[in-house]
Amino acid sequence: MPTPPSAGDQLVFLGSGGGRMTTATQLRATGGLWVSLDGTTLHIDPGPGALVHCRAKDLALDPTRLDAIVLTHKHLDHAGDVNAMIEAMTEGGTKHRGLVLAPSDAYEEDPVILQYVRGYPAATGILEPGGRYPLGAVTLETPLRLRHPVETYGLRLVGSRLTVSLIACTGYFPELEEAFRGDVLVLNVVFHHRRDEIHLCLEDAERLIAAIRPRLAVLTHFGMTMIRARPWELADRVSQATGIKTLAARDHQRLDLAKALAPG
Ligand SMILES: [Zn+2]
Ligand SMILES: [Zn+2]
Repeated sequence: MPTPPSAGDQLVFLGSGGGRMTTATQLRATGGLWVSLDGTTLHIDPGPGALVHCRAKDLALDPTRLDAIVLTHKHLDHAGDVNAMIEAMTEGGTKHRGLVLAPSDAYEEDPVILQYVRGYPAATGILEPGGRYPLGAVTLETPLRLRHPVETYGLRLVGSRLTVSLIACTGYFPELEEAFRGDVLVLNVVFHHRRDEIHLCLEDAERLIAAIRPRLAVLTHFGMTMIRARPWELADRVSQATGIKTLAARDHQRLDLAKALAPG
């Protein structure tokens, strides 16, 4: 019998868009994902617009409540607002609070995390393959480096009752299936049909969902070809093909995990 999630466990999509053209057009927002699990809240991949969208009236998310800001990688659609979010989390640098975690190349040559904001959070950390980072009651894991042109990690957020996995931008490779097991699986699906070996297309996502068999899968980070193909209909087809409840994220969607994982 799977255990129920605790009240307050949720995913909030500050954006469901990804890739260069979606970012440039803002056909879907690119503010990334907030995850709350066991009372710990993370902002993952604050792309362009993240701060504006989290302050939007319908969401009214409070950056000063964040425990951590996490970058899966340094590309603009994942990191464009990281400095704005670090300032917001730390009240303009007046409160040394929160953790910032990112791959080493986000701090090194051509850094996306500006030098002058690095002293604002309580700590900054570097993501590594096999990394485990305690965050309050949960542990963030970065099982392996993904297949993407810059240093990129998928995430597992392991709580007392639930694990939320995120397969960020990557080409498909079989080790993903074992590494990102979890109750909830979020997948960045940039392309409808296969276009390269460094992003997931819909077919890759369906293959991963069928192999990992989470209780709930959520597709997000849509490029233009996914948006044009009506992602909610594609998600329905994946649900039917895999038998796994699969949703397509919408901008400003607040997904209450207790409800989304309820049987029936
Ligand atoms: Zn991306
Ligand atoms: Zn990328």
